[in-house]
Amino acid sequence: MKKETIAIDTPFERRDAFGALSMPVYNSVAYEFDNANDMADAFTGRVVAPDYSRTQNPTVTNLERRVMALTGAKAVTALNSGMAAISNTIIALTAAGKNIVTSRHMFGNTYDLLANTLKRFGVEARFCDLTDISDVERNVDANTCCIFFEIITNPQMEVADISKLAAVARKNNIPLVADTTTIPFTMFSVHDLGADIEIVSSTKYLSGGATSLGGLIIDYGTFPDFNKRIKGEMLFNFGAYMTPQVAYLQTLGLETLSARYHVQASNALTLAKRLHDTEGIKSVNYVGLDDNPFHELAQKQFGPTAGAMVCIDLESQEACFRMLNNLKLVHRATNLFDSRTLAIHPYSTIYGNFTTEQRAAMDVHDTTIRLSVGLEDAGDIYDDIVQALRKA
Ligand SMILES: *Cc1c(COP(=O)(O)O)cnc(C)c1O
Repeated sequence: MKKETIAIDTPFERRDAFGALSMPVYNSVAYEFDNANDMADAFTGRVVAPDYSRTQNPTVTNLERRVMALTGAKAVTALNSGMAAISNTIIALTAAGKNIVTSRHMFGNTYDLLANTLKRFGVEARFCDLTDISDVERNVDANTCCIFFEIITNPQMEVADISKLAAVARKNNIPLVADTTTIPFTMFSVHDLGADIEIVSSTKYLSGGATSLGGLIIDYGTFPDFNKRIKGEMLFNFGAYMTPQVAYLQTLGLETLSARYHVQASNALTLAKRLHDTEGIKSVNYVGLDDNPFHELAQKQFGPTAGAMVCIDLESQEACFRMLNNLKLVHRATNLFDSRTLAIHPYSTIYGNFTTEQRAAMDVHDTTIRLSVGLEDAGDIYDDIVQALRKA
């Protein structure tokens, strides 16, 4: 069956007592057992059954099972944000004295987690150029616990060759961890390209119009102890499991993901092409454009679509602010892949508290506006951006 069908018609683990068609929200913390033996089996993991909703909940399990069916993963764990998925994954893989090989090109909070938070616990982040495989090889050593990267980096839009990263990871027997938030996992298989663990901020495409925060750890089972640690240790001790209300919303989001994504990606391409030839815009950064340096590699890895994040560069920060201030339809807000189109100046916001040197090293420029293209009519979005540019 095709992904669109699987997203909607994956059967429940058990038939609902009332035959409910959409998975009910199991708003219960605890679950009763018929006898002490069953209870002991569930608590010790001999039998998989919910006992307490910090670690298992039928509504969350239903979302996880659908993502497993869509990706072919061995295990999926849903958490309460993309950052929870990233931090729980990294902490499960690392320890004091270990290092993580990654890039400076990534989402601001992930960078801060790796560069600063984990440093306090004796974990070193090694930032290198993931598009230069010899640089990656030079940085990996016996203490490297994983290679971590974003498939299309937010907001630099860099694309690394995943099979080359995977070859280094395999040679060193360490997992390759991919944050695939910028292209839905229904569009391509990062595992087929060689990744062992996939992380998604389900806040973005999946949630269904920015209804809720969520994160997914999608484990392809190449490092069997990883899932044991996530389900048997991290969920218990860090307590970041998704809540049933959120799982309900995100399951509905998953059912319409493909339909929404195709419109958003097509709007993004239309917009990127038109903005490319618009006066007042210095450059458009979108891997869907033929002249983008990562275009061919992105098409090879992710297929014909290139996501709904488009960056544009103007003359100066002042020009960016004036343009943002004159928008009427497009919303000044952070977040990605909402149903509505959003615009943000990453340099002064997401990276606003980074030093000038850090921002330069991360290639976050004061001339860049990041757009998340929504479901509105592409012409209406374009017209709003152009009128805002003219006034600016
Ligand atoms: C938004 C985002 C995150 C963090 O996700 P939250 O759900 O906001 O915690 C991580 N990685 C990427 C690439 C993102 O865009």
